[in-house]
Amino acid sequence: MSTLEQRYHAVQQRIDKACEQAGRSRQQVALLAVSKTKPASMVRQCYQLGQRAFGENYLQDALDKIDALADLDDIEWHFIGHLQSNKSRTVAERFQWLETLDRLKLARRLSDQRPEGMAPLQVLLQVNISEEAQKSGVLPSQVPELAAQVAELPRLTVRGLMCIPEATDDEQLLSQQFDRMQQLLESLRVDHPQADTLSMGMSGDLELAIAHGSHQVRVGTDIFGARDQPASVSVVADAGPDT
Ligand SMILES: *Cc1c(COP(=O)(O)O)cnc(C)c1O
Repeated sequence: MSTLEQRYHAVQQRIDKACEQAGRSRQQVALLAVSKTKPASMVRQCYQLGQRAFGENYLQDALDKIDALADLDDIEWHFIGHLQSNKSRTVAERFQWLETLDRLKLARRLSDQRPEGMAPLQVLLQVNISEEAQKSGVLPSQVPELAAQVAELPRLTVRGLMCIPEATDDEQLLSQQFDRMQQLLESLRVDHPQADTLSMGMSGDLELAIAHGSHQVRVGTDIFGARDQPASVSVVADAGPDT
């Protein structure tokens, strides 16, 4: 077995076990394989193991892979990085999901730019659950208003909420933030029943996130290995063809 295959199965087993321990069905938790900065060849290998949903943070890096893997017609691309409004068209035209929607202006552009022939763009609202000043995302108190506005847009579908919690090892603090996300999703579902997705949990905290109601864990490092550079867009764009 290749390293990627071993790692992939190990992550699946961690999810299985976390679901079991939380008394949840395995079907309730999806895995998003975060392939940012990794070559198309690794994404293809992961696809061949059965994975379909992949998360990307950097547009040019993502586009190279989307083009290289265009023959895989049921592959699903999720944009999970910060999206500048002037780059929205690429996401509207090439991705199935955007997990980091945090403002109405961006939502309007995406809806206008989403091609008619494609299904609506599936969006998660990114919540700044730790309420840190420098962080992207709407504040918890702003979720209902943004969700109501986005729900009016014809080419977007609000599917739930996403967060990146505080960078801390304090499990109690993380648990509080995850619990608060769960409550926010429950409230959201009253008016938006199709909002069925809570995206939280990464390589280091997926068990805790599953114990606190996550429907989608986003795992990069533990599937694809450590990322060499804290990839800046230019580093990735200049890296040359995938090998
Ligand atoms: C990179 C990234 C991940 C994956 O993180 P790992 O620790 O490598 O599993 C998940 N979510 C977002 C938003 C990311 O940018």
